[in-house]
Amino acid sequence: MTITEQDQHQQMSLVKEKAAAAPAVIDRMKEHGHEQILFCNDAETGLRAIIAVHDTTLGPALGGTRMWPYHNEAEALEDVLRLSRGMTYKSALAGLDLGGGKAVIIGDARKDKTEAMFRRFGRFVESLNGRYITAEDVGMSTTEMVNIRKETGYVVGLPESMGGSGDPSPVTAYGVYCGMKAAAKTAYGSDDLNKKKVSIQGAGNVGHHLVDLLRKEGASVFLTDIHDDKLAAIKAEHPDVNIVRPDEVIGLDVDIYSPCALGATVNDETIPKLKCSIIAGSANNQLGDEDRHGRMLMEKGILYAPDYLINAGGIINCAWERRGYNRQAALSQTGDIYRTALEIFKRSSEEGIPTFLAANQAAERRIRSIRGAGLSF
Ligand code: NAD
Repeated sequence: MTITEQDQHQQMSLVKEKAAAAPAVIDRMKEHGHEQILFCNDAETGLRAIIAVHDTTLGPALGGTRMWPYHNEAEALEDVLRLSRGMTYKSALAGLDLGGGKAVIIGDARKDKTEAMFRRFGRFVESLNGRYITAEDVGMSTTEMVNIRKETGYVVGLPESMGGSGDPSPVTAYGVYCGMKAAAKTAYGSDDLNKKKVSIQGAGNVGHHLVDLLRKEGASVFLTDIHDDKLAAIKAEHPDVNIVRPDEVIGLDVDIYSPCALGATVNDETIPKLKCSIIAGSANNQLGDEDRHGRMLMEKGILYAPDYLINAGGIINCAWERRGYNRQAALSQTGDIYRTALEIFKRSSEEGIPTFLAANQAAERRIRSIRGAGLSF
């Protein structure tokens, strides 16, 4: 068939139209220094995924796979770019020899999952030859991790029965607790949490273990969740915990607010209502807008413990799986969060900069010192 000039003209207009609607991917990668993006499509299994490798200066990029019903590809791309960058900073600050990466699968975790889909995804991970190591994240469970493992060894967070590190939540909660104590030491001169009033948003895996640690130390805990069964389970173990409604938690008169449910709960609407002097929780990306809200907290005299600094217990736990899992060693390394957090708070106060910025700068310094040695993975 001969392509006429008119056909060709029509085809080019179509390409231009589509190009105008598509996100400029390499430009977005350049903005924050992402190294590589792998777009994965498999018609037979319905797999549509994006793997982002942000920075491998310190080692292979480790970060979980999230399954989420994104409205479109652009939304999925933005999420994976943001999350993978966060992993670089988290590992760098935790002193791990790992870079930052993340993967997203576009789909509904309640109905779209099949063994074939996750095995196909495992092959895509394998094709990166270890530049990216995956783990569990929102929408994923051990079943999917086991199916991914059938196709690639570049996966961590497997069940203990398979030689893996199992549930990371207790270790994450311990890191948050250490970060909270460091914040208390900085704000009150003592890291004793006895009788301190702590509000926790989210009675999930991390929230539950955090309540255990705080009650053991004699803190007064105010807990909320949108699911009553989660609250009831904790209340049965800790009758002294005060249960509050989800809409009450932000304005409570407490010493410490601990977001352990969702991101972006610290924003224009909530900051004026906060009465706490410390924010220290496990949720990722707590600040709606890192720069603006980080500065607003500093102006209001609230000490913010950056989420990726104090919730690194989970990634530390996963990192130990690669060396031969040892929970005591993982907990001990997680305990270092206390010292790192004290240093970050000190630098923030000495330089008059928000804590998120002091943490970012510390992570960037470590990456630069290794990059200078030309050791990129
Ligand atoms: P989870 O799903 O077990 O618990 C989250 C809880 O928050 C659930 O019980 C849910 O009902 C509740 N929730 C949701 N929306 C809420 C709302 N508006 N108000 C009150 N409660 C609400 O998750 P998790 O493993 O405990 O993780 C908690 C947070 O910490 C997440 O943001 C997660 O990304 C982050 N995180 C977890 C780990 C880990 O090791 N599990 C590691 C790093 C970061």
